[in-house]
Amino acid sequence: MRLFKLRGGVHPEARKADSSERPIRPLPLPQRLFVPLQQHIGAPARPAVRVGETVRAGQLVGAGQGSVTAPVHAPASGIVVAIGDHPAPHPSGLPVATVTIEPDGDDRWFEYEVAADPFALAPEDIAARAGAAGIVGLGGAAFPSAVKLDASRRSGVDTLIINGGECEPYLTCDDRIMRERAAEIVTGIRLIQRAVGARHAIVGIEDNKPEALAAMRAAAAATEVRIRAVPAMYPMGWEKQMIQALLGREVPAEGRSADIGVLVHNVATAWAVQQALCRGRPLVSRIVTVSGGAVAQPCNLEVPIGTPVQALFDACGGFLSTPARLVLGGPMMGHQLAHTGVPVVKGTSGVLALTQAEIGRAAPAPCIRCSSCVRACPVGLLPLEMAARVRADDLAGAVALGLKDCIGCGSCSYVCPSGIPLVHFFSYAKGELAAQARSKAKQEATRKLAAERSARMERIAREREEAAAARKAAKAAKEAAARAAEQAEATA
Ligand code: SF4
Ligand code: SF4
Repeated sequence: MRLFKLRGGVHPEARKADSSERPIRPLPLPQRLFVPLQQHIGAPARPAVRVGETVRAGQLVGAGQGSVTAPVHAPASGIVVAIGDHPAPHPSGLPVATVTIEPDGDDRWFEYEVAADPFALAPEDIAARAGAAGIVGLGGAAFPSAVKLDASRRSGVDTLIINGGECEPYLTCDDRIMRERAAEIVTGIRLIQRAVGARHAIVGIEDNKPEALAAMRAAAAATEVRIRAVPAMYPMGWEKQMIQALLGREVPAEGRSADIGVLVHNVATAWAVQQALCRGRPLVSRIVTVSGGAVAQPCNLEVPIGTPVQALFDACGGFLSTPARLVLGGPMMGHQLAHTGVPVVKGTSGVLALTQAEIGRAAPAPCIRCSSCVRACPVGLLPLEMAARVRADDLAGAVALGLKDCIGCGSCSYVCPSGIPLVHFFSYAKGELAAQARSKAKQEATRKLAAERSARMERIAREREEAAAARKAAKAAKEAAARAAEQAEATA
């Protein structure tokens, strides 16, 4: 099976060795778990418990609502001590509805029924069970898996790709889970394959992870799941890049991988599917890489969802120096953390504490029109031209150049010899576009409400007039009848 040529991409320093050689360690339960009701793309879950209620590990605490949503479950047994706002692990840091649980340390689990043979389940049952377990894409997208599985089955995908790219510097959580839990991952892959009816299943793993490749090959040896090494480069973990590398198929701009017959899931998601279908365990923990030059002992931890980020750094020996920047996710596509009180959520692949030396860059110099950013862009955009439009406040011009196709990978910024933070321009512009869209939607909703109110007032006025006219007519008829009666009486 040959590999296909890729567009763009860069080779940032991997910086993975600090955490990749240490086995996954379970993180002890913190004093409190802060479980946000929205950890996924789509509608937030609504509380399914009350304050003061005792819960078991794995018990539903937030029920999904709407067609794109995911439920959330208690990561440990304990007592629900609050339901209310708590800071979210989001760039805005704004609070979100959160269920706070005080663990009791008893490790009592909620028992779910497990099928004797999960492979005998109907495809839609596999998807439904993955959905009920709260599984979302663990590669960072956090899209509800059941929705993706159902849509892929209906659109008849032929190939399932399991993404073991993990191209972001520092992150090694996928590398470790493949080394340590390969058999479970392969079972999860085969279940996903059955759920969508894909004829082929291929795992793409970067060639800088030889141990993961060996472990996965051994686990998949007696199955039809194929394991393929792909070149280590950034952003190989981007699903369109992985599809291009393995299949040579290009996802159309603004299209989905299902449009070209492909479903992509992350290796950790496949593991979560195996846990749900074979052990009856909902998604209540995940592997998180803790790394960066300011961290004393970088490693990978198995972390209960809802654990405050500070507890992860504490478990890694704390800080060697005051971090210059805290990052949630990888340094290329992750986002800066304002503080360490926010909780780990389903989409948290890593928490980094970086030193000034790791992030330091001189002030930007003028563009020298070297075209490095154009060559690095995996989407085939013109970053320097787009940035010029954004700087000139010409958002429509930037959109015409493909701003909406930009995946925010930061490859252009990474290679720019002038240190121009190109991706920041694009993030800003996308934020402005989103704000404009929200404002337009709000204006439209206000206009609609005003029109509805005006129509309602007109209807009420019309009904009043009609009622008055009817009363007047009735009165006139009554008076005419009375007069007629009087005349009749006088005549008699
Ligand atoms: S890489 Fe930087 S300096 Fe080179 S063309 Fe792009 S923006 Fe200009
Ligand atoms: S951030 Fe956007 S413009 Fe820059 S390389 Fe990535 S996709 Fe291209």
